[in-house]
Amino acid sequence: MAHSAVALPSTCCYCGVGCGVLVEPDKQGDVRVTGNPDYPVNRGALCSKGLHLQYTVNDRRDRLLFPQMRYAKSRPLQRVSWDEALERTAAVFTTFIRQYGPDSVAFYASGQCLTEEYYVLNKLMKGFIGSNNLDTNSRLCMSSAVVGYKMALGEDSVPVCYDDIELADCLLVTGANPAWCHPILWRRVEAHKAANPATKIIVVDPRVTDTCTLADVHLQLLPGTDVVLHQALARVLIENGDIDLNFIEQHAEGFEAYKKLVFERSVAEAADLCGVAEADLRRAAGYIGAAQGFLSMWTMGLNQSVVGVDKNLSLLNLHLITGQIGKPGAGPLSLTGQPNAMGGREVGGLSNLLPAHRNLANAQHRTEVQQFWGSGPLAEKPGYTATEMFEALEDGRLKAIWIVCTNPLTSLPNVRQAEAALAKARFVVVQDISSKPETLAYADVVLPAAAWAEKEGTMTNSERRISYLPRVVAAPGEALPDVEILCRFARKMGFSGFDYATTEAIYLEHTRLTAGTTLDIAGLTYAELRQRGSVQWPYRPGQAASGTPRLFTDHRFYTPSGRAQIHPVAATFRSEAPDLDFPFILTTGRLRDQWHTMTKTGKVSKLRQHSPQAFIEVHPHDAQALQVQEGELVTVSSRRGSVRVAARLTTGIRPGVVFLPMHWGKILGSDLHRANNVTSNAVDPISKEPDFKFCAVQLEKY
Ligand code: SF4
Repeated sequence: MAHSAVALPSTCCYCGVGCGVLVEPDKQGDVRVTGNPDYPVNRGALCSKGLHLQYTVNDRRDRLLFPQMRYAKSRPLQRVSWDEALERTAAVFTTFIRQYGPDSVAFYASGQCLTEEYYVLNKLMKGFIGSNNLDTNSRLCMSSAVVGYKMALGEDSVPVCYDDIELADCLLVTGANPAWCHPILWRRVEAHKAANPATKIIVVDPRVTDTCTLADVHLQLLPGTDVVLHQALARVLIENGDIDLNFIEQHAEGFEAYKKLVFERSVAEAADLCGVAEADLRRAAGYIGAAQGFLSMWTMGLNQSVVGVDKNLSLLNLHLITGQIGKPGAGPLSLTGQPNAMGGREVGGLSNLLPAHRNLANAQHRTEVQQFWGSGPLAEKPGYTATEMFEALEDGRLKAIWIVCTNPLTSLPNVRQAEAALAKARFVVVQDISSKPETLAYADVVLPAAAWAEKEGTMTNSERRISYLPRVVAAPGEALPDVEILCRFARKMGFSGFDYATTEAIYLEHTRLTAGTTLDIAGLTYAELRQRGSVQWPYRPGQAASGTPRLFTDHRFYTPSGRAQIHPVAATFRSEAPDLDFPFILTTGRLRDQWHTMTKTGKVSKLRQHSPQAFIEVHPHDAQALQVQEGELVTVSSRRGSVRVAARLTTGIRPGVVFLPMHWGKILGSDLHRANNVTSNAVDPISKEPDFKFCAVQLEKY
């Protein structure tokens, strides 16, 4: 059925692929969602999650409809007016800030927030409250990639675009299962491989996933050995003469120290450490070395690690020694898990960032932002990161937390500790669309937010593509757009600069802060975005092309010297080592048809059918030793907690390694399916991203 003229272009609210959709409202206030055939990312195609998006929008049975408040921790939540809710919140925040300083309060937000929401949060917290205690669940997702890009290329700038997929003749997919988690992008890879069978695909993953069906070589490495693998690939490339000495001499720094490092370990020794065949490793290096266009894609397997930055840097090194960056079909493409993790990075929406890629440690940058905002001085000290916030709540340094658009009591590592922390918090505000998150049990104030298609704003996908998302239908009950909630609160706090007449006014203020930076979009209006469909930053309003598909085409990088930095990162092991008590390595991840903590996709019966219940993947050899049959219940325990799930026996996982899906939280009060009961909250020392992909566990038949 064709769409009517009122179908509005928007963007899918799930993963960072950022597919274009058409949203058509009906007279009942429901919507119909289909793929946008004109959108360059997906040309009308949608994955299972996108195809069922309309059901999650139209089923409003779980929606929060009005503000609620409890007057004492022991009292139930009761309905209040917006003024009452925000005045009490402002009074409590003001009291804590006066008594304990601005670092006694924090916001914990989400990579699903729109750019305008991130911007207001950042301005409110860093400019006017005077603390950098604003972090988001993007910390759990891509902060290692951010640091890797900054250290190697000078700024957090994804150099490539999706069109490079069709121009590459060798793709390395590592620590990612895009066939399930970034499906529409993967369909482009599948189509490219079908049309060009000589294109080589290397998949690196401890599990045999659907992504492996396309692989010319699958390196089923031991979890945590990525840096060793990257170094061995580099050694083979160097030995074979498959590096670009001209690029290295002209445009990079650090090669000699790096070369010395990678030659310290033989390829055979590295293959042994990684648990892969040396011949396969050499074959993969041969594919990279022979490529005209070498494109890498990665996500949580590299990022969610205590050595996540090292993993990122060691992968980026492969591009720098081969000169495979800044040209068609080549470069490192980090895939973001959330729809607007990139937009959050643009406005500086993490506790150690400032808007438009400015640096918190740079006094001039802080002054620029302060003057632009007309705020008080910006604090130099980075704020608490995601896991640090909950530690600070637990030990009392943090008194109040405001949680926006995220469900930390399912998604944080070592989540029972986070639960204990929220129980101790003096004041908790939860701003959400859904009544399902477990956080509501701890909330002093609950604020109902408008959902996707009920508010307008912008997002940026994994290839720096900014899109406009229109408000198509009214929000239910008294729910308000997040920016409206935050601006009303800021005004209750007595702050100036939050009297925006429109959401676009917020957006334009953000664009003005980008003027003269590497992500300059100054003056790009909603009207121009709508007319273009989308643009890739940097972009000068009115220019002929829709932005900048590829960065560093002149091989000038954003480092002080203009050269890319090859970091000779050593392979270190910092994860929780398996031992006799906890002999298995646990890794976690996503399933094909679910999104994060299932508050949206869990509402759709068709999506639930793919994996109705939580499970653990176990190799049959391990299952035999444990005397566990397919489908039998297993207790999985770590030093932090346990879960009880059905065993799924598969030769697709290495012996000694087990896999739990991340999506399940509490069900009817039971947390026995919640993977993060057992995961470790150890973090990378620089990116502060947790080690979701590695912790030691024991399995016992229940
Ligand atoms: Fe949405 Fe991602 Fe699926 Fe595209 S690939 S439809 S953005 S979930």
